Amino acid sequence: MDFSLTVEEREVRDWVRTFVQRELVPREQEVLRRERSGEPGLTRDELTELQLKAKESGFWGVQTPESFGGMGLSAVMTALIEAELGRSFVQFQFGGSADNILFHGNAEQQERYLLPTISGERKSCFAITEPGAGSDAKNIRTSAKKDGSDWIINGEKTFITGGNEADFTMVFAITDPEKGANGGVTCFLVDREMGWRSEYIDTMGEWGPAALVFEDVRVPESQILGELGKGFELAMQWIGRGRYLLPARAIGSCERLLTMAIEHANTRETFGAPIAERQAIQWMIADSGVELEALRWLVLHAAWQVDSGLDSRHAQSMAKLYGGVKANEIVDRVMQIHGGMGYTRELPIERWYRELRLLRIYEGTDEIQRRTIARNLLKGHVKVSGALG
Ligand SMILES: Cc1cc2nc3c(=O)[nH]c(=O)nc-3n(C[C@H](O)[C@H](O)[C@H](O)COP(=O)(O)OP(=O)(O)OC[C@H]3O[C@@H](n4cnc5c(N)ncnc54)[C@H](O)[C@@H]3O)c2cc1C
Repeated sequence: MDFSLTVEEREVRDWVRTFVQRELVPREQEVLRRERSGEPGLTRDELTELQLKAKESGFWGVQTPESFGGMGLSAVMTALIEAELGRSFVQFQFGGSADNILFHGNAEQQERYLLPTISGERKSCFAITEPGAGSDAKNIRTSAKKDGSDWIINGEKTFITGGNEADFTMVFAITDPEKGANGGVTCFLVDREMGWRSEYIDTMGEWGPAALVFEDVRVPESQILGELGKGFELAMQWIGRGRYLLPARAIGSCERLLTMAIEHANTRETFGAPIAERQAIQWMIADSGVELEALRWLVLHAAWQVDSGLDSRHAQSMAKLYGGVKANEIVDRVMQIHGGMGYTRELPIERWYRELRLLRIYEGTDEIQRRTIARNLLKGHVKVSGALG
């Protein structure tokens, strides 16, 4: 068994680490200041400028196929990159990517939606969740009714990431109420100008998702992405595009947080000795180190399964569940080790505390991951002996 990184993996990882250190970390104080006054951490122009800077060194479209101008990197490499990006809370992604399901568009749709998304001219959002349907996504009520050659969409979506900024949405609607999720859901590409509106949702984090409101929004038949009635399959493909990527980012955040905790423990003195000498503190550091290591390998193993063409859903659910739970325990311990200072806004720990909490909720809650994992085990789809078969 070889757990070492290849030369290429090391080089890519180190390049991203340097990029984060040089371009993102120095912006953190300003980003915190802006976020605290309700502004975005990075403006769209600043984000584009940083993405173009990275592009000069070839970092563009990390997982976008080379035929579309991307790097077409493996899942393992992408996980390593995400972990590096997670070392800063400045919300940054390399440019040149598009939602995986946009690749299912026909030639005209690729021209109008996929290519401008890859180039960064247009922004998309993925809209399935509704006020009455989250974990139970099959329960959506947004409807699309045929009117001549058009479709009329009515309904409300909620918690849509990027919904305030998006130029178009990939919205999922019921086109055949009798079939429901079994052949009666269709995905539509709908430009903002076609008539939907977004409403900002204030959250405890910096994500500010949106509610999308559709009132008699008329779209032509040509806006259907994929096939009529095959929307649910597309939604599952989007959700399944990389559950390992969310906990991958948390690896970097936890590395940075644990480093802060170690530095603080070694320098903060109470009762005449550094707190690092107290067993209570040592145990928090030890547990965090062990869990971080376990998370790293769960994520990389799930990514390796993706690269190997194996069914990685179980491994991805385990990485997502473990990452969400443990990253939250780690940030909590790091706050505890910092005492009162950990609770202030002078340090970014509370910023991470709020952000990491989301990991246990979106793209499948902890409970939904456990449900998947338990079902797989109870029904014998996977063995208790796990990866070794
Ligand atoms: C910041 C943010 C960004 C998001 N971005 C998007 C996006 O871009 N696009 C999009 O479509 N959606 C998005 N979502 C929605 C997100 O995926 C849902 O919030 C999530 O799936 C949970 O759904 P829910 O909020 O309706 O909770 P519910 O489904 O109502 O769940 C409530 C609680 O019950 C538990 N529960 C539910 N069913 C079961 C069960 N069978 N067994 C045990 N426990 C259960 C859940 O785990 C949870 O604890 C986002 C959410 C947030 C907060």
